[in-house]
Amino acid sequence: MHVRESALRHVRVIGLFSHRMPELPDVTVYMEHLDRLVRGEILRKVRLASPFVVRSVQPPIQNVEGRRLLAVTRLGKRLVFSFEENLFLVLHLMIAGRLKWKAPGAPIPRKLGLLALDFDAGTVLLTEASPKKRAWLRLVAGEDALIALDPGGLEPLGATREVFSARLRSENHTLKRALTDPTLFSGIGNAYSDEILHAAKLSPVALTSRLSDAEVARLHDATKKTLLDWTERLRLDAGEKFPEKVTAFRPEMAVHGKHGNPCPACATPVQRIVYADNETNYCPACQTGGKLLADRSLSRLLHGDWPKSLEEMEERKSSRRMPAVRPTGEPRSSRTRARPSRAPR
Ligand SMILES: [Zn+2]
Repeated sequence: MHVRESALRHVRVIGLFSHRMPELPDVTVYMEHLDRLVRGEILRKVRLASPFVVRSVQPPIQNVEGRRLLAVTRLGKRLVFSFEENLFLVLHLMIAGRLKWKAPGAPIPRKLGLLALDFDAGTVLLTEASPKKRAWLRLVAGEDALIALDPGGLEPLGATREVFSARLRSENHTLKRALTDPTLFSGIGNAYSDEILHAAKLSPVALTSRLSDAEVARLHDATKKTLLDWTERLRLDAGEKFPEKVTAFRPEMAVHGKHGNPCPACATPVQRIVYADNETNYCPACQTGGKLLADRSLSRLLHGDWPKSLEEMEERKSSRRMPAVRPTGEPRSSRTRARPSRAPR
């Protein structure tokens, strides 16, 4: 068996969705709980298990110790802890970064733990269950420095139809690529883009330049409804407790992670497009006029307008705008060539 195929199969066996990148609904629920728990508290200490998690140099990370936390907000998929003296701690969980809320001074878990933020009320732990440590923390001073960390994507929930439409059509991409590009739209990743496109009954490979006004309107409505519904669902799931399973695989999703399962709208088996270390799911009956997205059109798309991997795209966008301090020895990016699977039968 070809090495790549065996690697790919292995990924499928262990589950493509064990690490789902936190997206807008997930990050919103983290944000709300953190804000409730530590707003107004003084950050006593930043404990680092791995120095590489801090990707900023100036000001030194210790400068934030002893400062009062004013609010926890969100910048795209990043969490922003705003402190007195215009200091901002910005945290990107990337794919496998997760937060936990523990008793004050709780130890950092040995294998997966990256850092701890110690408040009197409790400790926020960051873990990352991946051999590639990609989650990052930056300390910046001043609002200009904070704005420089914004990839610039449009906040989909606050956007009017006109603004949404203009942004969508500002570049010609496949819908999958456009929705998940953090410089175009904020907070949408692989999972919710699948759900949004299914709700909008649009193909993931449809080109933004070819959409009718009615289709753009459907996409706009589906984007808002999907993100709001899921935020509410995650809120209810977590309840009063700090969300520990916020990014877990969700059986209630319509198509994401549901390859082979019946579409909830029409019972047609959900199909997939496999690329790099991820996959896109869609219902051919609801979204592509019954057409299975076949090898040839895919290889064309996968060459050009397709996220090679969402994680790489996030990194590229974030590192383009600021000098990044990277762990030595870590490759800039694993050169994974997208490889379409056989056409689904
Ligand atoms: Zn369907």
